[in-house]
Amino acid sequence: MNNKILIVGGGIAGMETARQLKALGLNPVIVEKSSSLGGHVAQWHCLFPDMTPSRKVLEPYDEALKDVEILLETEISSINRLQKDYSVVLSNGRTLNCSAVVFATGFRLFEAERKEEYGYGIYDHVITNKDLEAWFNTRSDERVPAKPSAIGFVHCVGSRDLKAGNTQCSKVCCITAIKQAIELKEQFPNSEIYCFYMDLRLFGKKYEDFYINAQRDFGIHFIRGRVSEVCETIDGRVQVKAEDTLVGKPVKVKLDLLVLMSGIVCNKENQALAHSVQMPVDDDGFFRSKDNIISITEADRAGLFYAGTCTGPKTVPETVAEARSAALNVYNYLKGRK
Ligand SMILES: Cc1cc2nc3c(=O)[nH]c(=O)nc-3n(C[C@H](O)[C@H](O)[C@H](O)COP(=O)(O)OP(=O)(O)OC[C@H]3O[C@@H](n4cnc5c(N)ncnc54)[C@H](O)[C@@H]3O)c2cc1C
Ligand code: SF4
Repeated sequence: MNNKILIVGGGIAGMETARQLKALGLNPVIVEKSSSLGGHVAQWHCLFPDMTPSRKVLEPYDEALKDVEILLETEISSINRLQKDYSVVLSNGRTLNCSAVVFATGFRLFEAERKEEYGYGIYDHVITNKDLEAWFNTRSDERVPAKPSAIGFVHCVGSRDLKAGNTQCSKVCCITAIKQAIELKEQFPNSEIYCFYMDLRLFGKKYEDFYINAQRDFGIHFIRGRVSEVCETIDGRVQVKAEDTLVGKPVKVKLDLLVLMSGIVCNKENQALAHSVQMPVDDDGFFRSKDNIISITEADRAGLFYAGTCTGPKTVPETVAEARSAALNVYNYLKGRK
């Protein structure tokens, strides 16, 4: 039996799938288009709800994947069904024959500049959640002032938004805003921090506690209402207007920094990859699972599987759990085929 399994994408979903497949005695190969493993998690400073440093989560994979073949800066040129296996041509010209393919191609972030009204790329002190993670890691971004006295977060940027073409909730950005607000408050204890939200979606273990701590211990203000207008003041600050729907009054705040919570949207390459193996994608461009209850990590075609956010927004623990499930699905598929 050909026990080679191709994993497309070397984020935490692909890495965990490879770790599990290896433990099950199979031979995973990771194809990653960028120059390193880790995907988005490698870009985040620390992870909610325990503020665990991302590098601590990723480090164990160095050891676990040391015998796994990893092809960096490599992409898929074509995938063809052989009788039982798949023949995959890589961008480096190599052809791999494998008995199953696991797609772990992750997500991209909504391009905040598309919501022109929030001023990303126009005003000096408007950044995204991703930019802020980069700042936590490097402490270098001239858009972040040295001593901000007021900071705001706008939730649901490009999510739950018909005009932006994405009506889905991005699932992780309410809790990410809370995490980032706490980190900023620790850095700038004298600053006032405001989160402008439509409604808070805090579904995970300990998330509600995290939210209560943010208010009680860090004094972060939560204002329910969509931001209607952002503009730059004459002294270079950012002015935000919103409706506080809890008290039924308009609010106007001047800020030194505005952070836009860009939502998780599908990886643009899904469409082409899916097309090459005649798999459907969902309306929102994420890969379509066999079903959304018990077969989320399976495609509707023999030998094709999914792990992580390539099927929709997910947290790291959910992604890791799915990667384990995908590995087990692959193992059972091969066992059933013998
Ligand atoms: C701002 C922000 C902060 C977050 N913070 C947290 C947090 O604190 N805690 C938490 O639990 N979750 C957090 N998340 C969610 C977390 O980022 C995801 O759960 C996680 O990144 C999903 O991993 P993944 O492997 O599915 O996808 P990704 O991280 O997107 O990895 C996908 C990988 O596939 C590669 N790839 C894509 N296409 C191809 C291709 N065609 N060929 C080869 N390689 C390809 C990419 O280069 C990438 O390396 C956060 C999300 C956001 C947006
Ligand atoms: S998780 Fe929160 S911020 Fe993100 S889209 Fe859903 S409601 Fe909006």
